[in-house]
Amino acid sequence: MTRLPAGSFQLMKSLNRSLILNTIRKDGPISRADIAKKTQLTPPTVSNLVNELLETNLVIESSQGESKGGRKPTMLIINAKNFYIIGLDVGAKSIKGVLANLNADILNSVSLSLSHPLTNALFLNQMDEVVEQLLANTSAYNSDHILGIGVAMHGIVDVTEGASIYAPSLQLRDIPIKAHLEERFKMLVKVENDARALALGEAWYGNGMDISSFMCINIGYGIGAGIIIDGKLHHGDDFLMGEIGHMTIDPDGPVCSCGNSGCLQALAAGPFIAERARKRITEGQESLLAEMVSDLEDITSELIFQGAKQNDALCIDILKEAGTYLGIGITNLIHIVNPSLILLSGGVTKAGHFIFDSLRETVKARGLTEKAKQTKIEEAKLGEHGTAIGAISLLLVEMFATQNR
Ligand SMILES: [Zn+2]
Repeated sequence: MTRLPAGSFQLMKSLNRSLILNTIRKDGPISRADIAKKTQLTPPTVSNLVNELLETNLVIESSQGESKGGRKPTMLIINAKNFYIIGLDVGAKSIKGVLANLNADILNSVSLSLSHPLTNALFLNQMDEVVEQLLANTSAYNSDHILGIGVAMHGIVDVTEGASIYAPSLQLRDIPIKAHLEERFKMLVKVENDARALALGEAWYGNGMDISSFMCINIGYGIGAGIIIDGKLHHGDDFLMGEIGHMTIDPDGPVCSCGNSGCLQALAAGPFIAERARKRITEGQESLLAEMVSDLEDITSELIFQGAKQNDALCIDILKEAGTYLGIGITNLIHIVNPSLILLSGGVTKAGHFIFDSLRETVKARGLTEKAKQTKIEEAKLGEHGTAIGAISLLLVEMFATQNR
């Protein structure tokens, strides 16, 4: 039995209904009486609204709770395993799609390599294909149970329009993702920048749960962040908030893909770390890397990490330097945003203590106050599918948010 999708998001726009739904999500299994206590709504109001939620089937009655004398109360839970969301993670090279339930258990996943050169139309076709494959593999579940599609998109995204403003690695601009997918699949679609989506995923399912102000920084091919303040993901005036990869760290540093010199990204992202290793070897420094590849062009940040584990001095130095640059960038961010936690994600974090040690030392040396120096810096929790889970969270915000989470 399912009833939810048609008009369901409008249904939750009632503040009290949404408040009750969120209480059940966070504290379920929970009785009607305890919901009334927690929300300070009157028992008849709770009873009426719970009946409406039971009608949608998004809330169900679970096994009975402990009685404090008298009749055992009926407990309420979210029917998380019976509703699904599609999440897409669009990167420079591929589109990864997942179908997950509301607990973020992944039931299906699909990956499609993007063939370049692309046009907006070709790109949207490939996106359709990923969704179609997920739906085709989903015959066991009724597609009526799917609440919508969340898209975590590389580049700058207009989250209001659900459009990609600029996707530098795809060389595309002004892609009407939301309009296209909603027309094609008749479902609600939400679009967000990939790093911002990942931060949201960490807030809903990862190490950012119940943390009111934190940042999640993704360090891979580029560097981007999602900034959550007072439980809300922020975008700034024109969707640029979190583009920390282009923070200037060294005006005399290497030229970045954006054209400026010495951006954080140009000093610490994967391809630039590899480039620095190549340069040092060409200049005559000895390294195991020279034996690990037949062509210096094949050096990657992953190989540098392997070299460091084998005690190669050049590899260790390069990772340490990357950690120092990241530490400078992160100290700047601590002084601007003052979060209680910073989560790091992405390929470069695989270098573990080779990067984290110098990063933390730098923050400790440069932070303005003792608390700033001690800001918690940890690895993000969601692994390989983190960004896609972030995409899924975009729909949860629509469904559950009372505090804009
Ligand atoms: Zn830049």
